[in-house]
Amino acid sequence: MLIKNQKKEVALSACLLGCSCRYDAKDNLNRELLCELESFSIVSFCPEDYAFGTPRPTMDLIMENSTTRAISNENHHDLSAPIYNYAKKFFQENPNIKLFIGKDRSPSCAVKSGKVYDKDKKIVHKHGTGLMAKVALDLGIESWDAEEYLTTHTS
Ligand code: SF4
Repeated sequence: MLIKNQKKEVALSACLLGCSCRYDAKDNLNRELLCELESFSIVSFCPEDYAFGTPRPTMDLIMENSTTRAISNENHHDLSAPIYNYAKKFFQENPNIKLFIGKDRSPSCAVKSGKVYDKDKKIVHKHGTGLMAKVALDLGIESWDAEEYLTTHTS
């Protein structure tokens, strides 16, 4: 049965929704963004809280041989696989997501604002894609950094 006026689903970083799931157990609540998304049904996600718990050590995006990985700043372990696994499962379980909005500069959630370093920890560029956002983009989902979404959609 076709249900008319059903809200479109947006995948949103849980910290922007007010969840205290950042590495330091704080949130990034963004009320202005939530107002802007009133016409959507929000499906929140946090790959790092799911995979590593909160609070947790930080990680950075490190590029080596053209591949970007999430590397722990605590023990230098490659943390990419658990993030990719979570992301793939999330989109399999939520196949109707039409829009992805990620927290700016996050190594997991940034769409094009992540800092990318080389293996010596020198910055390569500042427009990297976090690993969960990469999965969204690979699936062809319209994806935005939260700050750019707001500046583009509000006057
Ligand atoms: S930016 Fe992403 S990974 Fe980091 S706390 Fe927010 S939802 Fe979790």
